Amino acid sequence: MNCSDCKDKLDRYVDRELNNTEVLELKLHLEGCPPCADHYEFQAHLKRLVKVSCDRDKVPAAFREKLRQILL
Ligand SMILES: [Zn+2]
Repeated sequence: MNCSDCKDKLDRYVDRELNNTEVLELKLHLEGCPPCADHYEFQAHLKRLVKVSCDRDKVPAAFREKLRQILL
């Protein structure tokens, strides 16, 4: 798996839509690739944050800043 495959699958991983083989491949890649591991951390954090605060409009400044860095 390369980094672009990894990023394609991260969204589905966070949503628990991957099969066992795909999860294993993804985890192996994340262990050996800090940039993708960071990206995964962010995705998982985003998911949790959306879940916890979907009915609030307050987003922590540090999180907003990170989101902006990633999106730009
Ligand atoms: Zn990678």
